[in-house]
Amino acid sequence: MEFMNTEQIAGLYWFRHDLRLHDQPSLAATAEKCDTLLLVYVIDPTWFEPTPFNTKSIGKHRQQFLYETLQCLNDNLHTKGQLLHVVVGDPIKELSKLCNEHNITVLGYGDHQGYNERQQIVDIREAIPSLELVSAPNAGLFTPDSLPFLIEEMPDSFTPFRKKVEKSSYPESPVGITRALPPPPQISQTDWEGLPLHHGAHSAFIGGENAALKQLQFYLFDSELVSVYKETRNGLEGWDYSSKFSAWLANGSLSPKHIYAELKRYEREHVKNDSTYWLYFELLWREFFYWQQTKHGIKWFKQTGIKDKIPQHTHNATLVIQWQQGKTNNPYVNACMAQLNATGYMSNRGRQWVASYFVNELAQDWRYGAAYFEQQLIDYDVGANWGNWQYLAGVGSDPRGQRQFNLTKQAQMYDPQGEFLRLWGEVNVA
Ligand SMILES: Cc1cc2nc3c(=O)[nH]c(=O)nc-3n(C[C@H](O)[C@H](O)[C@H](O)COP(=O)(O)OP(=O)(O)OC[C@H]3O[C@@H](n4cnc5c(N)ncnc54)[C@H](O)[C@@H]3O)c2cc1C
Repeated sequence: MEFMNTEQIAGLYWFRHDLRLHDQPSLAATAEKCDTLLLVYVIDPTWFEPTPFNTKSIGKHRQQFLYETLQCLNDNLHTKGQLLHVVVGDPIKELSKLCNEHNITVLGYGDHQGYNERQQIVDIREAIPSLELVSAPNAGLFTPDSLPFLIEEMPDSFTPFRKKVEKSSYPESPVGITRALPPPPQISQTDWEGLPLHHGAHSAFIGGENAALKQLQFYLFDSELVSVYKETRNGLEGWDYSSKFSAWLANGSLSPKHIYAELKRYEREHVKNDSTYWLYFELLWREFFYWQQTKHGIKWFKQTGIKDKIPQHTHNATLVIQWQQGKTNNPYVNACMAQLNATGYMSNRGRQWVASYFVNELAQDWRYGAAYFEQQLIDYDVGANWGNWQYLAGVGSDPRGQRQFNLTKQAQMYDPQGEFLRLWGEVNVA
């Protein structure tokens, strides 16, 4: 056990989906309370074990993105005399061990509304009841206090949610960059090469806060693409038709409050139009699902969804695999799945097509589709993914019930020249 002056307060900050130093109120609050601070990220080996849906929780695209994100955080921490200690193991056991070894009395973390993320906090509280826990909301635009309703009374469909929020709430202001941090205790450097995360391949998405802030600057101020977002957002291929913020938002290397503050600055300094509003509108969708998952708890992952409705879907492993590998009877579904498998990303339009095909044409249990997305997406987010899948399966927050896309018509509208099909139609990446 390390020698510690009894006057000294030893803290540990547990990074989860908040892998950044800008707009980090929970890290700042923890830092203020401590004389030393151990900064930890835990890789849970269960991520790599098969799920009940024959998938893994994290595939190679997001593994690489996470690896780069952690390295970037470590580099940025170095400039503040700190470092990121990455461990592999059961999070509660690993944290308990570290708390014991370093006489930790204060544990900080960012609030996250995911079901498992909330359960983790209950578990750590039970494992070490003597710990002082310090936290703050840092994943949404709003907080429970700034929303105009209690979470348990929030509307179950998007439009009333948006109208209430727009009428009486404003996103919180970001808190800026974490300037100073207490020093770490004596701790070994992370063995980066030994981490069980795939890395080293080429990707258009570069993980980490630095790349996230660069993309924000590019999409808003350098290219001004945001000023035409409403017209371009239904694109299928390319970097410019949408913001691509999702991957950084998902692991918290980009703060939604910071995006909002920069969007408002762009509107003041450049142009305010339907497109700039529409980016906020889409961030409100993210927010909607983010808070919905708290309201509905475990129903988020149940086949009957938040509506407690039994869908007319079955499970056929062969059909699921054909869909995953882009070997269905529909060329557009196949092209979208090839794009997802090769890059870890798929457009919002494509996601709606392949999900609609999965639940309507193939009549499959939507959770198999959601779990495959969880594995493959570079921007996997528990609220947005399971919320959107439920919505399309007719057991979620869509007031109209099940939605079926006519893919032939959609293709005429969104790929009139067949360019997307030519690009991805022949590609086979399972
Ligand atoms: C079946 C299905 C599964 C999805 N799974 C995910 C997921 O795991 N992670 C994820 O971030 N998004 C998910 N989405 C939502 C959406 O497709 C992506 O957020 C978007 O394509 C990401 O690209 P972008 O950042 O360029 O989006 P933009 O069009 O630039 O939108 C800006 C931001 O708004 C938010 N947003 C946009 N559309 C939605 C939406 N429908 N629901 C929630 N938030 C939205 C995202 O944070 C996005 O980054 C899913 C959609 C569907 C239909």
